[in-house]
Amino acid sequence: MFKAILLNRSDSGATLAELADLDISRLPEADVRVRVSHSTLNYKDGLAITGKGPVVRKWPMVPGIDFAGVVEHSASPLWQAGDAVILNGWGVGETHWGGLAQYASVKGEWLIARPAGLSAAQTMAIGTAGYTAMLCVLALEKHGLRPGDGEVLVTGANGGVGSVAITLLARLGYRVIASTGRPQEADYLKSLGAADIIDRAELSAPGKPLGRERWAGVVDSVGSHTLANACATTRYRGAVAACGLAQGMDFPSSVAPFILRGVTLYGVDSVMAPTPLRLEAWSRLARDLDLAKLEAISRDIGLAEALAVAPQILAGQVRGRVVVHVDR
Ligand code: NDP
Repeated sequence: MFKAILLNRSDSGATLAELADLDISRLPEADVRVRVSHSTLNYKDGLAITGKGPVVRKWPMVPGIDFAGVVEHSASPLWQAGDAVILNGWGVGETHWGGLAQYASVKGEWLIARPAGLSAAQTMAIGTAGYTAMLCVLALEKHGLRPGDGEVLVTGANGGVGSVAITLLARLGYRVIASTGRPQEADYLKSLGAADIIDRAELSAPGKPLGRERWAGVVDSVGSHTLANACATTRYRGAVAACGLAQGMDFPSSVAPFILRGVTLYGVDSVMAPTPLRLEAWSRLARDLDLAKLEAISRDIGLAEALAVAPQILAGQVRGRVVVHVDR
């Protein structure tokens, strides 16, 4: 038997979430069984557990889009019992049982080795949000952005993606401006490395097609008018990495920033990202992330507590990252 968060759908279509004891035989068919030690609560897990977004596409479902653990049984040539592994995405926690459980059964090619220098708990303090923040930074770097180029805007600053993006960019030498709706967290954001804070209201209302050029680069996890205004205020030939929709899925922009200022908008997806890019992102996280700051960004909860924290993450009440200890 093992413990898991289990999601079922009621006759009326509502999501019913509970902490369940499940027989190991109920795990899905796949070639690698992992004893999970840590998972996390990402925004998407909040959507899945509360049913507020169409994340779950197969029922019943164990949510959890990421986990860290140790291989217990492998029929895959890629892994052996005892290997320390992590997983992000691939539809896990959406169409395939996920990481908010003591066991997961997954395809070998979905796993990567836990990066040297990071504990299982640290990989999940980073989690999919932090790995996505790194994918955004890589997109900006590959565009050619360098620390001397000017200010970099990070939206959704107190969130998981935002907190890790600020920490990474500041460590790399960028002048980071954090956009937040929680100015009371300014000290926290500055402790991560933000040089200055702006009120997210400056970006979240409908704006003009072009504004004063300010940002050399942008990491946006918010979408909607915020993303449109970020593009409109990005400097000539600057770049914006868009990965999220905390404000909304819409993108009420014009082509003006792209055709008049040569701004580039990069879409960042973590779920189906190819393995070489994942390996690059995780090795950079192991190298460049300040682990002392990672501790300040994250807090720990037990498996059952994930049920209560899920609505809080959607309400924007969670700061930074939440690590789920599945044996607690
Ligand atoms: P969090 O909930 O941790 O953070 C989101 C932050 O956005 C909040 O903390 C808040 O920051 C800000 N925010 C919330 N509501 C609004 C609003 N209405 N208007 C403007 N800002 C708002 O989520 P994550 O950081 O984990 O994820 C952020 C987004 O990125 C989500 O949409 C998520 O689905 C997406 N994502 C996408 C991935 C991909 O592969 N593309 C992977 C991971 C995440 P503050 O209080 O500072 O204003």
